[in-house]
Amino acid sequence: MTLRIYNTLTRRTEPFEPLAPPRVTMYVCGPTVYSYAHVGNFRTFVLGDLLRRYLEYLGFEVFQIMNITDVDDRTIKAAAAAGVSLQDHTRPFTRAFFEDRDYLRIRPADVYPSATEYIPRMVELVQRLLERGLAYRGEDGSVYYAVGKFEPYGRLSQIERRELKAGARVASDEYTKEDVRDFALWKAATPDDEAVGAAWDAPFGRGRPGWHLECSAMSLTEVRQRFGVETLDIHAGGVDLIFPHHENEIAQSEGATGRPFARYWVHGEFLFIRGTKMSKRFGNQLTARDLREEGHDASAVRMLICSTHYRQQLNFTDEALEGAAEGVRRLADFRERLADAAAGAAAASAPQEAVDLERGFREAMDDDLNVPRAVGALFTFVRGANRELDAGSWGPPEARAALATLETVLAVLDLLPVSEAVDAALEAWVAERLEARRAARKARDFAAADAIRDELAARGIEVEDTPQGPRWRRRGG
Ligand code: AMP
Ligand code: ZN
Repeated sequence: MTLRIYNTLTRRTEPFEPLAPPRVTMYVCGPTVYSYAHVGNFRTFVLGDLLRRYLEYLGFEVFQIMNITDVDDRTIKAAAAAGVSLQDHTRPFTRAFFEDRDYLRIRPADVYPSATEYIPRMVELVQRLLERGLAYRGEDGSVYYAVGKFEPYGRLSQIERRELKAGARVASDEYTKEDVRDFALWKAATPDDEAVGAAWDAPFGRGRPGWHLECSAMSLTEVRQRFGVETLDIHAGGVDLIFPHHENEIAQSEGATGRPFARYWVHGEFLFIRGTKMSKRFGNQLTARDLREEGHDASAVRMLICSTHYRQQLNFTDEALEGAAEGVRRLADFRERLADAAAGAAAASAPQEAVDLERGFREAMDDDLNVPRAVGALFTFVRGANRELDAGSWGPPEARAALATLETVLAVLDLLPVSEAVDAALEAWVAERLEARRAARKARDFAAADAIRDELAARGIEVEDTPQGPRWRRRGG
């Protein structure tokens, strides 16, 4: 059994074989820090997180690189609109991105190169392409890639090369397949660039890097310096990046090194904000901060993302998020039940339900990272295990073994709510109120007992009466 993953380059699902196992180098195109990243961006970043965690589960040693795009058309425009320097504009959004990443429990990449710190490497790459005759200086002072000179151009996005208009050029970072042209590697400095501090000296003229050049320079530099190679195992991003961004990255990188740039190209489909309240409130710009500020547990957001295969579009709606939150609650309650049942015991050999869980999880994940099916296996396990616990057929050692399997799977999917550090004062107050409620019930003063329950509820405390006594938790936690 081995992981098979869909490779956009070949349009086939292929067995995953990295260049030098157990090492896996993985580059995920990171955020453009002109604003807060939205949930769509984070869907793609969660995909990177799930892929990386599953590779680690399989025993690979993953080195993950995520760039920060802190100079490009959008960041310059946004800084100018805000009337501040590029750096002053992008720095707080970079910080916000890391906070949002942590909120969503995306494991940090090993390095976060930011474009403005790699300018000398970008200049070197342009020079190399000029030397190899793959780039030329336009009369506008910018340097362009001669797309017609790179034979494999169009392989990733499957565009017909005859659509190429020889010598026609485009300066913008983003354009469409219908408009294939020589793209700017290095853009001659404009007064607008100078005004926000987005211009650097280079042998071929003062200017700034194009967005595509940045990713080639940063990814190649990182793997060359660390591992002495010029090929990435995995290059990932959203489907919108296939053309022109990744097509151009290949042209630049392979044009300069003569080696394959990435072995597997993994592209995640888009997330859309649809349906009721959310789309009205946020358009398509719902950010991770909006969700956090609205009090949504990150587990619910992760669960929702996990509900759809990464190569299918995902609709993010209030209802879907509520459904995901409900799933998280069921999972959390079940885990608590299982942990209670396992208390103090050492593990027996895994019961059948746990064996089935791990097999189902692996089969699903190996099949082009079928996370929704893996989540399905998880809930099948919850139902089966609940039945065993109801029937009293699992003793503490079986429960302990089942719990261990559950933890292994959850280490990849990470779907349980974070147990927020409950402050001691609240804890003491709840204990005191629960004792008062017990006394009221004992005195058969049910009105008083109910009033206390309401008082607790008003502070977000939910109480559940179990044979072992009342159990409480914070709502949404
Ligand atoms: P950007 O910050 O615009 O450079 O995008 C960062 C990442 O988010 C890229 O990998 C994009 O492909 C991805 N992305 C952008 N919009 C969406 C969306 N609506 N759904 C999923 N991924 C997206
Ligand atoms: Zn990129």
